[in-house]
Amino acid sequence: METFDVAIIGSGPAGSSCAAFCAMAGLQTLVLERARFPREKVCGDCLNPSCWLVLERLGLAQQIWGLPHSKLTSVDFIAIDGRKVSVNLPTGNDCELSIKRSLFDDLLLKRACELGAHVREGTTVTTLVRDQHWKIETATRESFRSRVLIGADGRNSTVARLRNLLPRPARERVALQAHIPLPLNFGDRVVLQFFPEGYSGQAPVNENELNLCLVGKPPTISRLRQWAQRQFEIPATQRWRTITPLTRSPIPCAHENLLFIGDAARVVEPFTGEGIYYALRSGELAARSIAKIISGEDRPLVLREFTYACAEMYRGRLWINRLARDAVLSPRIGSLFVHAARVNRSILKFLTAKIVSSKL
Ligand SMILES: Cc1cc2nc3c(=O)[nH]c(=O)nc-3n(C[C@H](O)[C@H](O)[C@H](O)COP(=O)(O)OP(=O)(O)OC[C@H]3O[C@@H](n4cnc5c(N)ncnc54)[C@H](O)[C@@H]3O)c2cc1C
Repeated sequence: METFDVAIIGSGPAGSSCAAFCAMAGLQTLVLERARFPREKVCGDCLNPSCWLVLERLGLAQQIWGLPHSKLTSVDFIAIDGRKVSVNLPTGNDCELSIKRSLFDDLLLKRACELGAHVREGTTVTTLVRDQHWKIETATRESFRSRVLIGADGRNSTVARLRNLLPRPARERVALQAHIPLPLNFGDRVVLQFFPEGYSGQAPVNENELNLCLVGKPPTISRLRQWAQRQFEIPATQRWRTITPLTRSPIPCAHENLLFIGDAARVVEPFTGEGIYYALRSGELAARSIAKIISGEDRPLVLREFTYACAEMYRGRLWINRLARDAVLSPRIGSLFVHAARVNRSILKFLTAKIVSSKL
């Protein structure tokens, strides 16, 4: 059986970014992905401007512009009572853009393939055995071997679960998501709307479709769905994608010959729309560390550097995300914030600018 330098479990933005950078570095790279692409995901489909720098390094920025997308120019925050405040988003090539995950994730995975990564779709990892190397077994009873293993399999990471690292599931919120026909004159804006039961995010993803997300607690999420059905004239037969939990405790990202990246390592509150950036960037950072490990550099030092680099990636941003989490967990407080921002918009403008500023 061939032993790969690195096996990456999951090919969302984290796994594909990592695979592409590993392949670029000349590593024997294997990707095992449960789904068959292209596939949609529960997501707001918005790319934070920080993504552009990583996408440039992947050689994909131009290709993104060639796919159906929307360039987003402003965010509307809407309080429970319907009062609204608008904040402009960056313009030019450093903008916030929305694109369906079926297109975005497929492009990333194809890039990893093109650069030489071996990709197996429709392959669910079920068992991990650690001896000299990693032995990875799948639901279809295939086996693979690798020197380094990457958990890039999202918030409910199987890799973390199999290594007894996944935090116990809390009673958490649930998200529903659908693409629906774009309402007339919706414009190029993101809408973040508070409700007593939770919140809704809305953004056009192309000329014809709106991404609609609803986030709430299981007992009351059906009220949000009923609101959406009335508001957007959605038939009761509409199929919704669903995911839970919305957030969970992070797990340490560096272990001996095992790294976690993207949502598998840390799930942030989706309200600020940054998860894809963290996924892409942590994939890039992991690839750099794996190349060093495989070339024989001091492993404990490399792992410490990786942990530090991941912490740096979040530095100065996590507190805003936590603030957003507080606001969405208490939508009435979130609404009060919107009211205050109508009087003095400087704080909201500052927070929004921090979230959408580009970063290395
Ligand atoms: C409601 C909501 C809205 C959001 N909106 C935004 C937004 O607008 N902008 C933004 O940047 N972020 C947003 N996010 C967050 C974003 O979706 C995630 O941060 C991002 O998808 C993380 O990427 P990832 O590659 O780490 O994981 P994922 O995208 O979850 O990919 C994990 C992959 O692993 C595969 N997998 C899982 N288990 C196995 C297994 N056992 N074997 C093999 N493969 C496996 C899955 O099929 C999947 O393809 C949102 C999240 C939610 C819930």
